[in-house]
Amino acid sequence: MTDKPARTATAAPSDRALRPRTLMVRGGSTRSLNHETSEAIFLNSGYVFESAEEAEQAFIRQDGSRFLYSRYASPTVNMFEERLRLIEGAEGCRSVASGMAAVFAALMCQLRAGDRVVASRALFGSCHYIVAQLLPRYGFETVLVDGRDLGEWEKALAKGARAVFLESPSNPVLELVDIAAVAELAHAAGARVVVDNVFATPLGQKPLELGADVVVYSTTKHIDGQGRTLGGAVLGSAAFMKDELAPFLRHTGPSLSPFNAWVALKGLETLELRVEQHVRNAERLAAFLEAHPKIEQVIYPGLKSHPQYALAQRQMKNGGPLIAFAPKGGKSAAFHFMDGLAVIDLSNNLGDAKSLICHPATTTHSNLTEPERAALGISPAVLRLSVGLEDVEDLEEDIDRALAEI
Ligand SMILES: *Cc1c(COP(=O)(O)O)cnc(C)c1O
Repeated sequence: MTDKPARTATAAPSDRALRPRTLMVRGGSTRSLNHETSEAIFLNSGYVFESAEEAEQAFIRQDGSRFLYSRYASPTVNMFEERLRLIEGAEGCRSVASGMAAVFAALMCQLRAGDRVVASRALFGSCHYIVAQLLPRYGFETVLVDGRDLGEWEKALAKGARAVFLESPSNPVLELVDIAAVAELAHAAGARVVVDNVFATPLGQKPLELGADVVVYSTTKHIDGQGRTLGGAVLGSAAFMKDELAPFLRHTGPSLSPFNAWVALKGLETLELRVEQHVRNAERLAAFLEAHPKIEQVIYPGLKSHPQYALAQRQMKNGGPLIAFAPKGGKSAAFHFMDGLAVIDLSNNLGDAKSLICHPATTTHSNLTEPERAALGISPAVLRLSVGLEDVEDLEEDIDRALAEI
């Protein structure tokens, strides 16, 4: 196969002309000499050279025209990256072993000693750990702001920064950040904007179109969508990939396994169908919960009662697949309710076909102090519901029954 160059990271011209739904099914596909219909899983770590001279030339070129070693690139992983890149509309995409590896690499690859990082405070527990605990240990100055308050962003960015990091909607209580406005402030300060877009999914929000520079995903969530594999991805400009991310990944090695890449690649084929159903179910349950007498609070970007509803309408295509809500009666009511559920599973994972519920204060966000949680609106009663693909009537009845038992 040496006369036939391996696929490079750039899209075939035909890929660019195709519509998004077609790209979700076919984007990035390459066929081996066996003419398979479904994409093949290449579980090899190394590649063979025809001659010493060819190996020498390949290592001089380093242009992606041939595979060298699977830590750098491999066929199934490339297909996944290319399909996700086309769906996101980014110049480049690299995948890694988990969402946290993606967040860490996206930040760390561009930071230099003494740099400042400004981030919104409402972050997933491990994202918060990286920004608030880990980065300062290496001498980076990190500043956490109320992501909803443009004045706080402006003040924090006045001193300049290398990178801005935010989640919108945030995990778990669905706070939004005005991505376009923050991108403008960040760019004026010389900072790149990195957006964790997990809660919106690639179809519900387009951070790059809103002005962000880098998008990160935990592909563990709706991209796999069936709770099978861990994975992560980082998308951005060709220059960011080449100059910052690719060398960092190549030499630190958080590679995604080809098998996990294949599962996520096949997940992309049904992403739109699944996400549409997740969102339809979530919209219906959010309205149901809001009208329920035993519910204290519902937070869902698709509800008019969301404090940032106007922003949600502006930058998101829908309310998303996650809901936060609190039953009346504090932590014990929340625990009673969870223990009364018969269909919805208790799990700190999310983005599965199965509906999953968790109590963030005692699980995903238990590494924060009580005052930190309070500042983030994570009350002792608040629950995070990842709405699945089940019949929404069964979900509604399950919730109704469990609420009656409180
Ligand atoms: C789950 C999650 C992550 C981490 O992803 P993993 O694949 O579990 O490492 C990061 N950010 C958000 C918003 C998440 O929900």
